[in-house]
Amino acid sequence: MSAPEVSVVIPVYNEEQGLPALFARLYPALDALGRRYEIVFVNDGSDDRSAALLREQFQRRPDVTRVVLFNGNFGQHLAIMAGFEHCRGQRIVTLDADLQNPPEEIGRLLDEMDQGFDYVGTIRRMRQDTVFRRWASRAMNQLREHITRIHMTDQGCMLRAYSRDIVDAINACREVNTFIPALAFTFAVNPTEIEIRHEERAAGESKYSLYKLIRLNFDLVTAFSLVPLQTFSLAGICISILSVIFVVFLAVRRLVVGPEAEGLFTLFGIAFFLIGIALFGIGLLGEYIGRIYEQVRQRPRFLIQAVLEDEAPANLASAETSRVASQRT
Ligand code: UDP
Ligand code: MG
Repeated sequence: MSAPEVSVVIPVYNEEQGLPALFARLYPALDALGRRYEIVFVNDGSDDRSAALLREQFQRRPDVTRVVLFNGNFGQHLAIMAGFEHCRGQRIVTLDADLQNPPEEIGRLLDEMDQGFDYVGTIRRMRQDTVFRRWASRAMNQLREHITRIHMTDQGCMLRAYSRDIVDAINACREVNTFIPALAFTFAVNPTEIEIRHEERAAGESKYSLYKLIRLNFDLVTAFSLVPLQTFSLAGICISILSVIFVVFLAVRRLVVGPEAEGLFTLFGIAFFLIGIALFGIGLLGEYIGRIYEQVRQRPRFLIQAVLEDEAPANLASAETSRVASQRT
């Protein structure tokens, strides 16, 4: 199997209900493009039958399918990272397994790349998600737009296309907590965006709980911006200046009006407010420090149990992948 033109990387976590429909639409859509392609599925430690279904699919289409099986659940973005390390196309497309982004749109992304763009972002037209998710996404998009150098309309849409140069740059990164569309954007020379269709999840439920969503958004913010920390130091400076003024005011008042003991609850109110801000600041600092700690320990970011592939790719010498056994057919 010589190097394909297009690699499609798909993270899979407990998607047994949706996988048959995905296979049924994805392969014909790619066959119809008339481009040489491969599909790299990364099973992110599913505890349902997803891995078995991927194995079967590999046996059906070994010429264009490769499957990376993780040892545990390491998260969507690390699964994509592993897919990037195992793909060989000149153009790399990421896609979710739940059919929310129609595989039939992949051709349009590649057409954009034909025009010379090295990063094709996407905007979900009429997004089919809950009101809360849409509202939260809008807020996070605005925040990211203000506090980072990364500019895109819809950061959450994962059907995107990247050039080989961008993916090579990502492979050179050893980031533990990251957000692929944003990381890729930092390496893009000539990015563009197109609108694509969006559908309801074909089967199963979202794999992101509220907690996981919050963690993911912290990853995005901490990985690409120091503005939250800087805001805190600036706010600290302002509050210190205000308190000096306030102390001087109280001292003068003490001399003019005499001793006073009113306003106890106002004092409590102000104190609690400031303590709240201080705790939030400490927590925020912890988010950064925790990530620094995870990064400096340099543990493998993910463990691969097996790779199902027709033949070993030439450039598979990364530390993480060489440490684990590959199972080749
Ligand atoms: N996913 C994954 N690991 C996880 C969570 C999700 O590989 O820990 C995959 C999931 O199987 C899907 C994609 O990431 O292919 C997007 O997940 P989902 O559709 O649940 O996210 P949402 O569309 O709700 O943002
Ligand atoms: Mg989804």
